[in-house]
Amino acid sequence: MNIFEQFESEVRGYCRSFPTVFSSAKGSWMTNTAGERYLDFFAGAGVLNYGHNPDKIKQALLGYLMRDGITHTLDMYSQAKQRFIERFHEVILQPRGLHYKFQFPGPTGTNAVEAALKLARKVTGREQVVGFTNAFHGMTLGALAVTGNSFKRAGAGVPLGHTASVPFDGYMGQDIDTLNYFEAMLHDNGSGMDTPAAVIVETVQAEGGVNVASVEWLRRLRQITQAHGIVLIVDDIQVGCGRTGSFFSFEEAGIVPDIVTLSKSLSGYGLPLALVLIKPELDQWAPGEHNGTFRGHCPAFVTATAALTFWEDGRLQQAVAKKERMVQKQLQKMVAKHVPGAQVRGRGLIWGVEFGDAGLAARVSKACFERGLIIETAGIDDQVLKLLPSLTITEEELQHGLGVIESSLVAVLTGKDGAPTGEAHALAEAA
Ligand SMILES: *Cc1c(COP(=O)(O)O)cnc(C)c1O
Repeated sequence: MNIFEQFESEVRGYCRSFPTVFSSAKGSWMTNTAGERYLDFFAGAGVLNYGHNPDKIKQALLGYLMRDGITHTLDMYSQAKQRFIERFHEVILQPRGLHYKFQFPGPTGTNAVEAALKLARKVTGREQVVGFTNAFHGMTLGALAVTGNSFKRAGAGVPLGHTASVPFDGYMGQDIDTLNYFEAMLHDNGSGMDTPAAVIVETVQAEGGVNVASVEWLRRLRQITQAHGIVLIVDDIQVGCGRTGSFFSFEEAGIVPDIVTLSKSLSGYGLPLALVLIKPELDQWAPGEHNGTFRGHCPAFVTATAALTFWEDGRLQQAVAKKERMVQKQLQKMVAKHVPGAQVRGRGLIWGVEFGDAGLAARVSKACFERGLIIETAGIDDQVLKLLPSLTITEEELQHGLGVIESSLVAVLTGKDGAPTGEAHALAEAA
């Protein structure tokens, strides 16, 4: 029994899918203590959009630490925060015509979601928040109350209330516009649904199985919420920061949410940092009404500011668009050849393959790991193989990873997925 199994709580999760001890990482490769390399198609669940230890961000961080830049200030003013706000405004908000105020909650995604929900309730004076089927918004009680997964919800141990769940785009099949249902519920005084304070939505449900909301559906959701004075919160924690190609995932739809939550890749380096973007008229917090010890970690502001250089021109976005086409084409080809009937879904560099047989995705993920590729599953039954490489992955690495997925899929389908040995890392090293 290793030290983790001996002492770390049974709650540990991802290590069970990827049972090895990692010691270093660079770009899209992770190395374990035995010196074996793994190609990373998981990117820390979307934390590492710019890869592991990207040089220009690392240099900024090292420089800051070496000159004794201040590390912790609670929410006192710091030069690091000042620069981040200035640059985020210049590089991200201004060019997009967006006007938001910045709230830095505690450093994780769920902290941002909690703050957003509290503010929406305070501003509207209403209690109810609407979330969607298969949504994922975090593990604290408020965020969990708008999360779909019944296993995770049960972990709360108390009733999760003041929310309603309505069907996400595509939940009732492609021919039914689920917003007809939501809109009817809002309009009809007999529906039993109180006018909610907010609707919280992911444009692509990442944990929920890579379910992609259409541009039309998002636009209509914006119209409905606007017409009813409901705060629209876009949770862009996983699919923001360029995951879908543009910095914000909602840009393609041309909508402007009232509140946006960001975390995961915001710091660009794997340091914890979260941000709630608030339309100025909704910024009705009283001073200190929502606080926390680690609100805006200065080293994370430094790396987040350095990460914005990726957004100073359109190069990253163009590169993602090219890789998007590559992945889509290859996955569709692979599926047509080996598992016709499986569904391929995604945008930018988040892709999912949903197999008819729910157990298949986990077996393919395991076979991939044995062949030197880190790739997760998603969806309520882990029925979706989820591709989430860094945005900066090279096309060669992407091809290599897609090749490993195909050979792993073939191994699983032919019953040959019992741990291969030498082949695994020989493959990885050949890349
Ligand atoms: C990961 C995630 C969260 C929660 O973030 P934590 O940092 O794990 O608290 C919330 N919403 C979405 C969409 C996420 O992917």
